[in-house]
Amino acid sequence: MKTRYLKIAGLVALIIVVAGVAFFPFYWNPKKSSTQVIFSDFMDLVETGQIAGTVVFNEGTHTIYAHVTAGQHLRTIYSKEATGPLQELLKKKGIRFAIESGGGGSIWLSLLFNMLPFLLIIGLFVMMGRRSQMGGGGGPMSFGKSKAKLHDATKPKVTFADVAGEEEPKEELLEVIEFLKHPQKFQALHAKIPRGLLLVGPPGCGKTLLAKAVAGEASVPFFSLSGSEFVEVFVGVGASRVRDLFEQAKKNAPCLVFIDEIDAVGRHRGAGLGGGNDEREQTLNQLLVAMDGFEANSGIIVIAATNRPDILDPALLRPGRFDRRIIVDNPDSKGRKAILQVHLREIPVAPDVNVDVLAKQTPGFSGADLASVVNEGALLAARREKKMVNMVDFDEAVERVIAGPLRRSRALTPKEREMVAYHEAGHAILRKLIPHADPPHKVTIISRGMALGYVMGAPPEDRYTRTRSELLAEVSVAMGGRVAEDLVFGEITTGASNDFEQATNMVRRMVTNFGMSDKLGPVTLGRQGGPVFLGRDMIDSRNYSEEIAYQIDQEVRRLLDEAYQYAHRTIEANREKLNRVAKALIERETLYAEELDDVMAGKVVALEPSRPTASAGAEADIEAPTAATPDAPPVAPPATA
Ligand code: ADP
Repeated sequence: MKTRYLKIAGLVALIIVVAGVAFFPFYWNPKKSSTQVIFSDFMDLVETGQIAGTVVFNEGTHTIYAHVTAGQHLRTIYSKEATGPLQELLKKKGIRFAIESGGGGSIWLSLLFNMLPFLLIIGLFVMMGRRSQMGGGGGPMSFGKSKAKLHDATKPKVTFADVAGEEEPKEELLEVIEFLKHPQKFQALHAKIPRGLLLVGPPGCGKTLLAKAVAGEASVPFFSLSGSEFVEVFVGVGASRVRDLFEQAKKNAPCLVFIDEIDAVGRHRGAGLGGGNDEREQTLNQLLVAMDGFEANSGIIVIAATNRPDILDPALLRPGRFDRRIIVDNPDSKGRKAILQVHLREIPVAPDVNVDVLAKQTPGFSGADLASVVNEGALLAARREKKMVNMVDFDEAVERVIAGPLRRSRALTPKEREMVAYHEAGHAILRKLIPHADPPHKVTIISRGMALGYVMGAPPEDRYTRTRSELLAEVSVAMGGRVAEDLVFGEITTGASNDFEQATNMVRRMVTNFGMSDKLGPVTLGRQGGPVFLGRDMIDSRNYSEEIAYQIDQEVRRLLDEAYQYAHRTIEANREKLNRVAKALIERETLYAEELDDVMAGKVVALEPSRPTASAGAEADIEAPTAATPDAPPVAPPATA
């Protein structure tokens, strides 16, 4: 508190000094106590440079007021004719003069003019103050006030029932809820509950939701503030916000304080170009002090969220602060199903919607992504004037969330369309033919986002590690598009650039990160993550020699070549299948897993709407990649890697 008042007092003092300097010439009232001289003498004084300050002409009384360097105030009477030459002379000598018209009213005008720059400066200060607390409301002097939103009146209504999946974090948070509900129980036993918990997980995985649900379950007030809001233009404002936040929290205990994006304030101190950010460090220090400032069992629980625990200042993670870490991950397929179900409760869903299939189609989606899939689906259905949301709507919603809005207007020439069809067919049949590749879920030539078409691979289950064979298979699949173009048209397009980029990145990581190259052996080459302040991912500092760099390039090149050759052999041996799939694609644009099998096998498929029933699609998803059919013996994968 004290320092805040000191700061405000300092600002006020500054304004007074600035104003004082600006006003100085006007404190002096030349009309009082001035000595009268004759006009010619006055001219001499000007000539000899003895006049100090501003010369004032009063047109009403025909009097000139001036100040001489000796410290005296002078006045003289002038005639109208004399003003011209005198003013010329003053200008020449660089002496400022002002003209009053009559009763002194214009001294205020000149005062105003003199003050203008200072008024502007003060105005600027006020504006800066305002801007630094945009959205916070309040006057320019209230920038220290905490912006913590107190959800007191409506203690969060969210409960654990609204948070799907995430069973482990929920389990760990149960204890906290119990404590917030009945702090006395813990106090009686002197059991110490952690003051601070750190929720760690990628964006959109439900950290905020979990924290809210904890407050909701315990029905205690929920204060939330985002780390980026702490870091302000004015040094000290962030710190005072922290202080205010904890003061409010203390008054409302038991309660929950949620700090989102704690990495914005909690970065390693001293990191950063130019020796770090004072404001942020002050804020962080204040946060540490505040955390230490309340008793372990005072009924305040602080939950912070971050997706970068690695860059947090170690002081934040010490016992008594954020010493308990809870990992919140993106959901697996079971979790995705549960999250979808939570969100589907809110909208009318048609009976053809199969949540299992949706969950399978959305590997890698976060809770927030899934929430927007459901919402997009409802929007699409509404636009189509339906009463209920169908599976097709959700299918399209998934694709929208993956790749941006559908671009129907993008017209391809028939030739281009054919090339795209062969390109995608190349990827698709490799997904079917190459052992260890993810089987395709769907292949389409409808353009979306930047892509002209795509093949969606659906891994049979969620995976956390991948084998070398799987990675190499994916690299070969990526080559399939270019190979097909080359084989069929003897001509290649620019459509494969993204494929190559992906393939190259993957191979490079196999060699440098995963130690999957026989030649370079099991090492990590290059250090991921240099100094934090440049953004760790930005730099990949090199800790190996030119010699090794050359070997890496050679190895990457070799693996890519082998993958390309493998893809080439496989597609060449299965030309008939490639043709069938490409033709079917040109005709129908989209093929789902089961149809793809039929088309590849040469079975005649009726020209029905291309969407199979939802459950059939699900079956097909989990089928293992089909072994090659008799007309095309399996091609041996490259032996070395
Ligand atoms: P984070 O704080 O991790 O960035 P949020 O908690 O803000 O993510 O999640 C954003 C939205 O995503 C939530 O409001 C909710 O609609 C949805 N969501 C995320 N995870 C889940 C989940 N496990 N269950 C239900 N909805 C979720």
